[in-house]
Amino acid sequence: MKEFVVISGKGGTGKTSIAASFVALSGHVVMADCDVDAADLHILLSPKIKHKETFIGGGLATIDPDLCTGCGDCEKLCRFDAISPMKVAVDGKGAIDSGVGTGGSAGGGEGIARKEEKLIYFVDKFACDGCGVCAYFCPANAIAFEEQENGEWYISETRFGPMVHAKLHAGAENSGKLVTIVKNEARKVADVEDIGMVIVDGSPGIGCPVISSVTGADLVLVVTEPTKSGVHDLERVLELTRFFNVKTMVTVNRFDINEEITERIEEKARENGAVLAGRIHYDPAVVEAQIEKKTVVEYSDGTASQDIKGIWDFVKYQMEEEE
Ligand code: SF4
Ligand code: SF4
Repeated sequence: MKEFVVISGKGGTGKTSIAASFVALSGHVVMADCDVDAADLHILLSPKIKHKETFIGGGLATIDPDLCTGCGDCEKLCRFDAISPMKVAVDGKGAIDSGVGTGGSAGGGEGIARKEEKLIYFVDKFACDGCGVCAYFCPANAIAFEEQENGEWYISETRFGPMVHAKLHAGAENSGKLVTIVKNEARKVADVEDIGMVIVDGSPGIGCPVISSVTGADLVLVVTEPTKSGVHDLERVLELTRFFNVKTMVTVNRFDINEEITERIEEKARENGAVLAGRIHYDPAVVEAQIEKKTVVEYSDGTASQDIKGIWDFVKYQMEEEE
């Protein structure tokens, strides 16, 4: 089974439209949508969900204000600046005034004699990355660490074959872990159904989700665009694929918008040992196809469609060379 991954240095380069067209041209592959932070391949492939699972992405720390002694160890240990101190009123027995919880504010309950104030710590749940370090080291056992439901993943059927995809809840962490699940499940489907290729629509950028997308790939295609940031983004992505020692191809989408930058991008690709896969013309049919919820090679036989078909033939040739 071969694994072919389409990635880009940033979003908006046309990566998903191109990956979806490859799926349409391939006949029968397993599609893995690993762009879990902004999944939109389903718009073009209209998957019918056959199997659904909850994604437990990690934990969230919460501090029990009654147990916290205010030592401050957790604040020092948290690399994500998710823990902060606050003063709370306590009654004569040292119990915290009502209305105080993690992320809350000092309460002002009526009728309680406040003899003193106490320093406690609280967790900003939006900043907490779920590493669990604070809970492990808290000397007062004041920090609970609970698993969080961060999204869902699915095995679906499309008009081109099976698809594994996912949805990460808004603001949820650990997309790299979810990408790994999607890829592993896609490999399992390919094994069970005896399908020879997985095409991965990878995450943009160079963070954890991209590393998870690229790991174990036989071939990577980087989709870039002729802008100044496109040159810089390409350099960062090529550094990553070189580090993971994955054979890499580069295509410039909408190359005719700026042919001078296109040449600079291709020069950079060559310098970094990548294979030039070919260029794709700017073509309004790409957007029209998206509106019609079709891949561009289904919708049109125009310039972009022809370019993508040529690149797909070259990808297949490069994959065969790998065997
Ligand atoms: S380490 Fe525990 S006891 Fe110390 S400030 Fe943090 S929560 Fe409170
Ligand atoms: S679990 Fe990790 S990220 Fe969250 S508050 Fe604790 S140390 Fe910080």
